[in-house]
Amino acid sequence: NSNPVFKGLSNEASSTSGLTISSPKTDKSERSSSLPYELNARSKESLRLGNTYLTVSNLVAQLWCEQQMVYNFWKPDLEFIVETTPAMPAKHKAAVKAVVAAASGGNKIHEKRDREVNKYVPVKAKTREDRYSIRLINIIVSLRGLLLCGEPCAREIPIFGMPLGHQFLVVGTIDELRFDSHGRFELVEFKTRGDLSRPIRRQQMQAYKMQMMLYKQMLDDLVRGRVDGREVLRSLRMDPDQVLIDELLPYVRALGDGLRTSITLGELMTIVLQQFEFLSHVEVLTLEFSGRDNSATVAKETVEFDADWLRQRLDHCRAYWTEEREVEGVDIEDTWKCRICAFYDTCQWRQKMNEICAQKNTVGKIK
Ligand code: SF4
Repeated sequence: NSNPVFKGLSNEASSTSGLTISSPKTDKSERSSSLPYELNARSKESLRLGNTYLTVSNLVAQLWCEQQMVYNFWKPDLEFIVETTPAMPAKHKAAVKAVVAAASGGNKIHEKRDREVNKYVPVKAKTREDRYSIRLINIIVSLRGLLLCGEPCAREIPIFGMPLGHQFLVVGTIDELRFDSHGRFELVEFKTRGDLSRPIRRQQMQAYKMQMMLYKQMLDDLVRGRVDGREVLRSLRMDPDQVLIDELLPYVRALGDGLRTSITLGELMTIVLQQFEFLSHVEVLTLEFSGRDNSATVAKETVEFDADWLRQRLDHCRAYWTEEREVEGVDIEDTWKCRICAFYDTCQWRQKMNEICAQKNTVGKIK
């Protein structure tokens, strides 16, 4: 096993962690424990209350087309309405449907991979704090499984941080963390593609890069102890003094403190932040590609971290959220994105650019 030994985490902690994550190599019948799973509202969307935070996906979508991200952000159901508008040319409708189908296929593959290593048990959550506590417990269970219990990887790890500055909490979920054959800490992102033989467009690759670099930066901030847990809970408008429900206590006790009779959300957050600090900095960023019908990896790509490149893009993103500038759509050379956009008919940016092009009598009309 190439897993390194981490400071301060004893074998005793390992043996009392209790909640191990089942790995693909483990026989199902041997699975002795499980992750808590919230019954009511598992998706990150359900945790959003009044848009108190941004997601990594929001920022990556902003790089793709900010105008499209804004439409989706404020009116998430609109794309399905727009898809059926008669004004949209049939070929554009088909392209939009293909994009929606691709997203749905990717979600299924993600879920399949998640189930390969994580087994969930139902826990009834009553409050938002309960639901968030479950996510925090799952982080600890997953990371301890990787660091102490010899699990080959940890999947679907929620992370959080303030990469845009203190006003904006950003949350995301890392597909996989593991150690490569050289013992380097590796962050993996799974992508599905319809036609694996076609080269990836430069703009698509840039979106992937931004996502992975952002994950690395946020995770490294957590490893360095740069994230303020009280700030995170304040941004989420959650009460740090709320005591966890009794149903979650066995999981908290199993994490190493068998004497606990109660624990608050704030205390749990402190344990999570300490757990992140046992990790190494991410050394390798890997994209793994598979087809839409099969989760087997068919191609890999290594992404080089470029702090300046990421900083420039985050600065540009932040300027929109701080209202230093208006929303922007795609550049003229990227208008092919409009042809696979659900907002093709109604996009104000596209209409504005068409008017400008018409006035200048240019050939750059956004078709
Ligand atoms: Fe962006 Fe083009 Fe869609 Fe408008 S039509 S939201 S500019 S991709």
